This record gives sequence, C-alpha cells and structure tokens, in this order.
Amino acid sequence: MDSKKKIIGVCGARLFNQIPMQFINTLKKQSEKEGYFIIAFSSNSDDEEETDGYVGESQLYELAKYVNLSAIVVLSETLKNTKIINQIIEIGRNRNIPVFTLDGDAEGAISLNCDYYDGFEDMVRHVVEYHGCRKVNMLAGFKGNKYSDARIDAYKRVLKENGIPFEPERLAYGDFWERPAQKAVKGFIKSGKEFDAIVCANDSMAIVACSILNEYGYEVPEDVIVTGFDGTIGAGYHFPVISTCEPDYENAIKFIMDKIGSWETGKACDNNGCTVSFKVKKSQSCGCMPKTMYEINTIISSLSNSVGDCSWHSIAMSGMITALLDKENITDIVDCIPEFTHLWSSVFRFACFKSSLFTNCAVEETYNEMTTILDVSNGTYNETGRKFRIEEFMPGIDKVMAEDNGIDVLFVRQFNSGRNVYGYIAEGYPVLEERAMQRCNEFAMFITHAVDNVIHNHKLASMNKDLKELNNNLEEAYNKIAGLYLNDYMTGLYNRRGFYEKIGLLAASHKCKDKYLYLFSIDIDRLKYINDNFGHAEGDFAITTVASAISETSGEDAICARFGGDEFVCAFTAGSSGEYSAAEFYNKLLDNINNTKGVKDKEYPVGASIGMCCCHMEDGIDIENMILSADKNMYKDKSAHRQEYQKDMIN
Ligand code: GH3
Ligand code: MG
Repeated sequence: MDSKKKIIGVCGARLFNQIPMQFINTLKKQSEKEGYFIIAFSSNSDDEEETDGYVGESQLYELAKYVNLSAIVVLSETLKNTKIINQIIEIGRNRNIPVFTLDGDAEGAISLNCDYYDGFEDMVRHVVEYHGCRKVNMLAGFKGNKYSDARIDAYKRVLKENGIPFEPERLAYGDFWERPAQKAVKGFIKSGKEFDAIVCANDSMAIVACSILNEYGYEVPEDVIVTGFDGTIGAGYHFPVISTCEPDYENAIKFIMDKIGSWETGKACDNNGCTVSFKVKKSQSCGCMPKTMYEINTIISSLSNSVGDCSWHSIAMSGMITALLDKENITDIVDCIPEFTHLWSSVFRFACFKSSLFTNCAVEETYNEMTTILDVSNGTYNETGRKFRIEEFMPGIDKVMAEDNGIDVLFVRQFNSGRNVYGYIAEGYPVLEERAMQRCNEFAMFITHAVDNVIHNHKLASMNKDLKELNNNLEEAYNKIAGLYLNDYMTGLYNRRGFYEKIGLLAASHKCKDKYLYLFSIDIDRLKYINDNFGHAEGDFAITTVASAISETSGEDAICARFGGDEFVCAFTAGSSGEYSAAEFYNKLLDNINNTKGVKDKEYPVGASIGMCCCHMEDGIDIENMILSADKNMYKDKSAHRQEYQKDMIN
C-alpha cells in the first residue's frame, strides 16, 4: 500500500481502553494539525507467555509491514510480550523508520518513559502546600515495586521539605487493587491516629479509600482529602470526582513529530528518547472543585447510555450467531453481516477474510490472498467479494485518507481464534468514542466465533459424508455376507441354514395354521456321468438349470433350497391336501427344465427324481420327518429312473 499522507502506526493491546486512548486522542489532535494519519493495530491479549492466542494475535502486527508508515509507536505496557515488541521494532528497522516505545525500554527503539516520580511529587505537594494538610497518609502499591517505590520517595521528600517528619504508620501497601487497599484504609482508621489526607499511588485505591471513609462516617474532601494517580476513567466517573495525575502526552507527541522530521531528512537518526511527565488534575476529592449534582447526572446518563448500548449490541450479536449456527459456508457469514451491522454503518468499516477460507474452510498459516467481506462508508455498503494481495493491505485506503470525511484514525483488529487467523477489520473514526470502538471489538470477536462455528460444521458435514459412504459400503458387505450365510452361492436358492430359518418362520405364522405344507425332495439324475463325460462346467449347468426350474415350478411363495451337491428341497403351502401330486409337480418341473435355454442342444439329458410329503400344519410340523419321508419317495422315483435308463441301455 502506498499513500501520500504520512502515517503513524500505533501498536498495542486493547487500545480502546482509557489510558491508550488518552495517548491516541492527543496524537490525533496533533496529527490533524500536522497532516498525519494514524493506523492503530489493536490486539486483545496482553499475555507475557507465548500462548496459542498470542501466536495468532502476533500476526496482526505483521500487517504493519504492508503499510507505508513514517513511524511506529508501541504501547509496551499494554503489550508486555518482549518477543512481539521486538518483532514490531524489526518491522521499523526494515522500513528505516523510527520506532517509539511508550513506557518500556527496548533495544533499537526510542523510549518515551513516564515520569511517575515527578507527577506524584506534584500531587503530594499540592495536598501539603496548597491544601495545608500535615497529617498525610499514603496508600502505596506493592512492596518493592519500582513505580510504587518512586512514589514513596516523592511522598517522603515533600514531607521533609515541609518539615513534616515521616511516620511509618502513615504508610500502608494497598497493592494497587481493591481488597488490600480496603484493609489498609481500615487499618488507618482503627489505628486511632488522626489524618487529614490519603494520597494514593493509583486511582483504584483512591476510589476504595473514599468508600471505606464514607462507611466510617468521613466526608471526602470535607473531613479527609483523597487523591489518586493515572487519570483512569473510573476516577472521572466517581463522586466526588477523584483528583488525580494524568500523563501529559503533548510534549512526547511533539517530540515524536520532530523526530520523524529529522529522521526523514537524515539529520538525527539517534535513539535518544524523552520523558512523559504527569500533570496534576485538580478535581473534587481534594476540594479544588465543588461537588455538584451536575457531575452526577452527567456520569449516570453516560453510564446508562453505555449499558444500554452494551445490551443492544449483545442482543444483535447473539442474533447474528444464532442465524449462523447451522451454516457450513463462509459466504453465509458474509451475506448475513449487513443485516446485523446496519445500525452502526455510518462509520467507515472495511473487513476481509483469507481467500482460502472460502474454499473448504481452509485456514492458511500466513496472510496471502484476501477477500473483502465488508466495505461500508457513510452508510453505503459497497460490493464485497473482491480479491486482493495482502501487500495491498486495504484496497481504497488512499481514497479514505484523502477524502474530507474527518477520518484520521483507523483501528485495525484481527479475526483470530487461538492460532487460527481468519482476517482483519479496519474501522475509521472522525471522533474516538469508547463504546463505538468496543462494539467493533465485540463484532470482531463474534464474527470470529461465527467462523469457528462454520469451520466446525463444515468438518462435521464432510465427516458425515465419509460416514455415509462407509455405512453404504458396510451395508453392501453385510448384505453379501448375509446372502452367503443363508443362500447358496451357485444357484441363488437358500442353503440348508436358510431353508431351516425360513421354514421355521413359516411354521410359526398364524396365517398357516389351517393350511397344508407340501415338501419335495429332488435329486439330479446321473450328475456324475455329466461331470465325468462333459466336464464340471456342464455339471454346474445342470445344477443351475434344475435349481431355476424348481423355483419356477413351485411359485413365488415357495421356500426352495439346495441342500448340497445335487440335492434340493422345496416347500410351499396350499389350502387342501389333494391340491398337488408328485407326478404333476414332476411333469411341470421337467417342462421347465426342457424349456431352459440351451438344454435341448446338450448331448446329455438333464433330469431329476422327486419325492413328496404333505402335512396339515394345525398341530405343528416335524420338518425332519417330512424330509425323511420325501427322501424315501424320491429314492423310489430314483430307482425307477435307473431301471428305465438300464432298459434304454439294453435296447
Ligand atoms: P444319481 O442319478 O444316482 O443321483 O447319480 P449321480 O451321478 O447324480 O450321483 P449322486 O447324486 O450320488 O452324486 C452327486 C454327484 O454330483 C457327486 C459329485 O461329484 C457331483 N457334484 C456335487 N456337487 C457338485 C457341483 O457343485 N458341481 C458339479 N459339477 N458336480 C457336483
Ligand atoms: Mg444325483
């Protein structure tokens, strides 16, 4: 990406939080005058450890490579992880631009270190010298913490300068947070040692001090003055508003601009940094400003708007997730976005996904080709689905920067889930409003979850497809095995096992109680002769011919089986005992054999001997006995056929 306007990159975690925002807002004011554009890369985690999430988030800062930056400012305190800070410094080194680190020294960077010492000293001095407090207690941070110790030194120094002896009981450690601070303030009260002020090493402890003092009947600042440090949003929302110290970024930013200028002209490319001083912000908790209801109303209405917006936005986002629950394609997400983002479409928004996601939900490890998924400016939704190389960073950014739309800051965030990075979103603001920025952050997180879900559904769907295929194969294999288990492979008739199973079911059926069971035993005549003289294939032909003829003769409902070799059994039911005879069955069978294609051309006869047995089914059937009896009759038939054959031989 190339642009005519000079761009300053700001890198940090959760940049929409109050302290980084103070810096960015001051930078924005100065940039407007000097014609700079700001691109802020804001990640979510601030782990010092190298977690999966951090590995994914670190890719966000790689995007800075593709922007024609004039300088980078790293908000080190928000990032914490030195590996990532070094990665950003490396990007600056490759571009040959200055990299500034705010509140944290790093090799190769220009340090802008906050002077916590002087700022706090000014505040203690204000309490002692302006408000005339002599019994001043202090709530320090952690024992041994360098920022806390610097503030203790400042406290002691001011006391000394004003001829007030330091009393160790007036100093307690509140560890910078709520519970230890509560304990420490209660300790001050219970000690019985009077005090007229508590100077706190941060705002959170000052807020706690006010509420404990109130609980014990003290009014702030009428009975006890309380002061904080840092200038957090909570201090501003408190009643009374906390008198605190906030960083004075103006000078530091002027220093940055000067440095960029001299760096570009090659005048001074050194890494000498500067300090960021803190200035006292006199307000209500020290008594400099009157406590009025006006502040309370402003605070309440601003908080209530924020809460209302949070609630509305979480409903909208949850609706979006619900609408996308069963989706298996990334395009479904893209199609759904305008429906759920229309209420804040007036700001400039641009978002893109890795193109690989659109084909089989594949997540490439690095950024390559991107596809736009959202492109809104001044309420107009431009066409999406445009592909571009990552080097372009954001198609149309020059136009956004050049337009007279008041936008001079872009916030860039990533869609990432653990190590998986899906894409990024850039949002442009004319005015930096905390809630709007939080919303964009929330949107990025919800969209990320929607992508996670689609990827999961896609995997499930392809697994289901594989499972379906496997099931079909298994079913086919099962049918084959089941077929072999009950059927004779050569003729397709039942085998002995199949016959017994089917005849058992028939015998148990109520429908057959008043019927008659006809059972036939059939044995092919002179199969050995066919085998020996014409080969086994011809023997097989005779077997299959007789098998089909048996099926045809006995009808669809009959149970026909090959018991083994050239022996067959078939059974069916009829309404009376005289309905069928062995002779009638034999004649039909022989007709069916002779009508079989190819039989007439054979040089051998295909024939069989049969025996029949018939029983009433009412009292149950003894199948073994019926087979024996049918066999007996079949043998009689067989010996008759043999005699006929011998007669023929003699003639
Ligand atoms: P008979 O008229 O007395 O029944 O004489 P046969 O030659 O048919 O003799 P028998 O029924 O006692 O023996 C059956 C012969 O069928 C024995 C065996 O060699 C042959 N055989 C058994 N199974 C198969 C087969 O699957 N294929 C072929 N080609 N021959 C078979
Ligand atoms: Mg035989």
